[in-house]
Amino acid sequence: MGKANVIAIDGPAASGKSSVAAAVAERLNIPYVNTGNMYRAVALAAMSEGYETADSETKRLEILSSVLKNIKLEYVESEGILRLLLDGENVEAAIRTPDVAEQVSAIAAVPEVRSWLVDLQRKFAELGLIVMEGRDIGTIVFPNADYKFFLTASPEIRAKRRLEQSGETFDGATLESVAAKIAKRDEMDTSRAVAPLRKANDAVLIDSSDKSLEQVVELVVSNVEAGIPRTPKMECAMGKTTTMEYRVAYADTDKMGVVYYANYLVYFERLRNELLRDAGLPYAEMEKRGVMLPVVEAVCNYKKAAEYDDLLTISGWVEETGKTHVKICCEVRKNGNLLVSGHTVHVCVDIGTWRPIRFPEFMRSVLERRTPAR
Ligand code: C5P
Repeated sequence: MGKANVIAIDGPAASGKSSVAAAVAERLNIPYVNTGNMYRAVALAAMSEGYETADSETKRLEILSSVLKNIKLEYVESEGILRLLLDGENVEAAIRTPDVAEQVSAIAAVPEVRSWLVDLQRKFAELGLIVMEGRDIGTIVFPNADYKFFLTASPEIRAKRRLEQSGETFDGATLESVAAKIAKRDEMDTSRAVAPLRKANDAVLIDSSDKSLEQVVELVVSNVEAGIPRTPKMECAMGKTTTMEYRVAYADTDKMGVVYYANYLVYFERLRNELLRDAGLPYAEMEKRGVMLPVVEAVCNYKKAAEYDDLLTISGWVEETGKTHVKICCEVRKNGNLLVSGHTVHVCVDIGTWRPIRFPEFMRSVLERRTPAR
């Protein structure tokens, strides 16, 4: 069991994440991982296989899955800095072109690409304290990160900064055209079904529009050095647990003024939804592939009551997977204290016949991603 010793920095395109993350890492003398570069490297590999000229969505998905099978993506330390290598080659310059920027968000929205990269990104937790930046580090990759920041800046400032970065924009680009491209990428990143860009509830929001790089770095470092914010330490096996926050609504409570006991089962369902999405396959997508998971057993143990407006942390993981059934455990906590624990058991059924079927292979790998090692 381990916690995520991670300083997570998320935010939209050109919000200054990379410069801030690199400078914070240097100040604290710890490694820095840029996950955007990993998505860009997958995009670069796919483009060299004809991704953008492919004539159908099916062909594009085929190219992506073959790329994921065949490439080797790794960060290797060189002179104290982690360098991204694609099949052994440093691609840090090759991925910062306008062409790659144009393709990357569509590729980053594909569930298989995300779960492949998220698995890789979670391995960095073994390095001790690291800085990791991206779009979903504080929400999906390391929801139990010790420190979370969400960096933003006004669209005008972001466009201006991007225009000033050489190599990232097409020749003759104007402030307006760069702003339009950034807005398009933001729209794709915030509206995608899997792991959309959003601020984690417990992340510190930093608007850098009127701040210098040094000021933002100082803000992040002073938060880290002061030991805030610390998220509740969930017992989380190398990121295999899904965690979400939920604030109790008035409508959730009963005449005794506490959360009605049956509502915890609804909270468990919310968690399962996030768990599957987190593992790379939202439940709705699973049904589209012909499989349903109806509940055949539900158990709840009540230790303490939650009240209106309490901020709850709900966490869950896959406890066991059989040939046709899966058991998912859930815990509801407030300020780290356990209120309710329980589980549900589900049977895998065919959507047309409602008959139990063995888990298809794609479901097994999804569930495995949420099964802590024993
Ligand atoms: O950070 P950067 O702008 O280089 O990221 C490139 C793209 O990669 C983003 O626009 C986004 O589509 C994707 N990305 C992501 N999740 C991350 C990091 C990047 O989807 N954690």
